[in-house]
Amino acid sequence: MHAERGLPSSPAILIQSERVLLRSADGRPRIVPAALLVRNGRISSVHELSPAPGASPSSATSLATASSPSVSQAELPRPSEARVLDYGSALITPAFVNAHTHLTMSFMRGRFDDLTASGNAVEQLFFKIETQLEAADVRAFTRMGAFECLLHGVALVWDHYYFGDAVAQGLRDVGLPGVVAPTLQDLGGPGLGRAERGLSDTVAIATDPGLARMGIFSALGPHATDTVSPALWTQLAQLAEQHLLPLHFHLAQSPEEVERVERRSGCSPVELLARAGILELVQPRVMAHGIYLSLADARRATSGQGRLVFCPASQTQFGVPARIDEWLAAEVPFLVASDSANSNDGLNVQEELRWVAGFRALSSSYAPAFEQVLAQGSAEAARQVGQLRAQAVARASRLGDADFLLRKLWDEAGALHPAFRAGAISAGALANLAVWDLDSPGCWPATDPLRALAFSNLSHALRQLIVLGEPRGTDGWYASSLLHSQAYRDARREADARLQQLWRRAGF
Ligand SMILES: [Zn+2]
Repeated sequence: MHAERGLPSSPAILIQSERVLLRSADGRPRIVPAALLVRNGRISSVHELSPAPGASPSSATSLATASSPSVSQAELPRPSEARVLDYGSALITPAFVNAHTHLTMSFMRGRFDDLTASGNAVEQLFFKIETQLEAADVRAFTRMGAFECLLHGVALVWDHYYFGDAVAQGLRDVGLPGVVAPTLQDLGGPGLGRAERGLSDTVAIATDPGLARMGIFSALGPHATDTVSPALWTQLAQLAEQHLLPLHFHLAQSPEEVERVERRSGCSPVELLARAGILELVQPRVMAHGIYLSLADARRATSGQGRLVFCPASQTQFGVPARIDEWLAAEVPFLVASDSANSNDGLNVQEELRWVAGFRALSSSYAPAFEQVLAQGSAEAARQVGQLRAQAVARASRLGDADFLLRKLWDEAGALHPAFRAGAISAGALANLAVWDLDSPGCWPATDPLRALAFSNLSHALRQLIVLGEPRGTDGWYASSLLHSQAYRDARREADARLQQLWRRAGF
């Protein structure tokens, strides 16, 4: 409904580098010289450049397959008023999308000694503190989470939290685009009694042209299948159709959720969604974490435009990691996200990817054959585990493909809202770009930059982040310029003060 609504009205910008991640017609990544013309926060055209005379093709250029017609510098369209940002040989990729997070919750970072020891941290700890939150707290804490995202190359988040209007304001204050899902609850949780307000916030954000210009959109945000009544789910199915809004919610994230749904409705969480008409919607569904779904239900939940979300770091803290190797084998589509600043001290989606890849080998550690290693340590026992590992790795071989992993943070996560596309360097997409300094020792020898992006933490190599066409820091001093900005210092001061008051109110 707001697909045509404009983003910031600003002069054209030409962004170019010798290494830009484009894709050939079959979707394969190609790193080639290119220039991007950006207008009003979106990429308006992409121009592959012919290499400068005498330039040797970079190793990554060998990824190129079908080549689109390239143009010389002289042939580039240059609107007279266009600013030119030339990043030399730095690598330009799409900025990351974090498809499931709760930025506000950073305020709990380090507060509890061991969340893993809590049976259900969400209910036993978080809900109690969250009832003490005020809208202004959420706005202040969201800003802190938003700055952290920018430092890790994330330029768009799918956020789910109480006081959705305050989340949207916090994102706007920092200039981080996002899809805000005001948390809706009518059976349990801190949002009780505020579902109507949450719904009106959702619609207000969706229809606010000022927010859309800042890249801030909304989704319907039922909390989970045990905290939202069947009647409200049915109402949400109607609202999704009426307002063309995606849904973003938790699904089968805890044993308690599955148990409550079974007791109240006599069915599984996915059957409950089906009865409410949620699974028939053409609107996308973003569903975290799906840990306790049968494979049949996982397939059913992800039919059409449904995507499960895997947050490996937080799942190992709060619950158990979902069986993505089985999801992969069953063709269950999933994204990767980081909702976990309060549990594992990080909100870096890039760092989550190596966990995802690591799940290929994990099943061998817990196989009965490994018991024999622990009991005997014999060569035969070791050989058997080695064999299991080889089979598991082969079965989930796609998890070893850097681009397969990265696309879960790029175009797959950026294609789930009808109002925009992100995570892609193509005409029409939001101009959210990361510029990586491949001269950093963490990239050396930069033989395969995509592999480094998928298997390492390269935040230190982030030379610049471009959000809606605008560079967010000083070129080359990106992180320090952000941290020394007045905006960050002011945000930090207010968040500190509000946090102190909050702990006092909550009796800590
Ligand atoms: Zn969550």
